Amino acid sequence: ATPTSIMAGSGRAAEFGILFKGGEHLETTHHIDTVIVDKTGTVTNGKPELTDIVVASGIGEEEFLSLIGAAEKQSEHPLAEAIVKGIQDRGILLKGVQSFEAIPGYGVKTVVDNKEILVGTRKLMNSYNVDILNILPVMEELEANGKTAMLASIEGQYAGLVAVADTVKETSKKAIKRLHDMNIEVIMMTGDNQRTATAIGREVGIDHVIAEVLPEGKAEEVKKLQAAGKKVAMVGDGINDAPALAVADIGMAIGTGTDVAMEAADITLIRGDLNSIADAIIMSHKTMRNIK
Ligand code: ADP
Ligand code: MG
Repeated sequence: ATPTSIMAGSGRAAEFGILFKGGEHLETTHHIDTVIVDKTGTVTNGKPELTDIVVASGIGEEEFLSLIGAAEKQSEHPLAEAIVKGIQDRGILLKGVQSFEAIPGYGVKTVVDNKEILVGTRKLMNSYNVDILNILPVMEELEANGKTAMLASIEGQYAGLVAVADTVKETSKKAIKRLHDMNIEVIMMTGDNQRTATAIGREVGIDHVIAEVLPEGKAEEVKKLQAAGKKVAMVGDGINDAPALAVADIGMAIGTGTDVAMEAADITLIRGDLNSIADAIIMSHKTMRNIK
């Protein structure tokens, strides 16, 4: 391999906003046959907005939102930010929080106004024996529309649900099609639930979806594919994605994402447009052809 053509290839890629950390990654990229994309902030814009509020009987909407908003105010999760913003935009004041615990991949557990408040997934509710049977059809309907619905309980009783929607990047669908046309398998991986993930996947043409992956599980999924002989590129933006970006044959971080993701990755895609994935692979092919 001539260093000159690698240098030229890296330089050309950089002009397209594709930053290779080292020449060896340009060589590895050429062997990629499987691309895993994170959902939130990678396939989607990552700016969820509060769209739906459903309150259980026996509690007023304002009371409900002031408790839920307080609980989520302590969380740094993008979903929490969307919930808090949506509540504050409705002019509702938040109550004071006495304690807060983030449960990664599940939600939050807090004490607000001397009441224990949980907000998060079905599994979170199930693990605290909160009866959510009646609300499940409503939740499933929201999820089938690509929304992320989160359940809330107050003192162990189901109290309501909030849903947020994130929009897919307008470039994602075409970018996925380009990868498929290059015979590259594309998989979307997310901590979000199966139904929401499937709906978003359908919107952008990805039929292989791995959902409900816990934060520490993303790297494991990459290793499983590698053990099956795949050469895997992982594309992500979040702190949660960092271990998977590091383990993958090639890690590609979205330039608009977290610094942690960019540090763990081999390539930074400055533009945040998934077309850069195909561009990077094509450039690596061209470079390797010049070398041989
Ligand atoms: P993602 O890959 O979507 O960032 P996470 O692993 O962070 O997924 O979270 C998985 C799921 O856990 C979310 O879809 C949501 O249902 C729930 N969850 C996580 N954090 C919170 C939170 N602060 N409030 C409510 N629900 C949450
Ligand atoms: Mg993300």
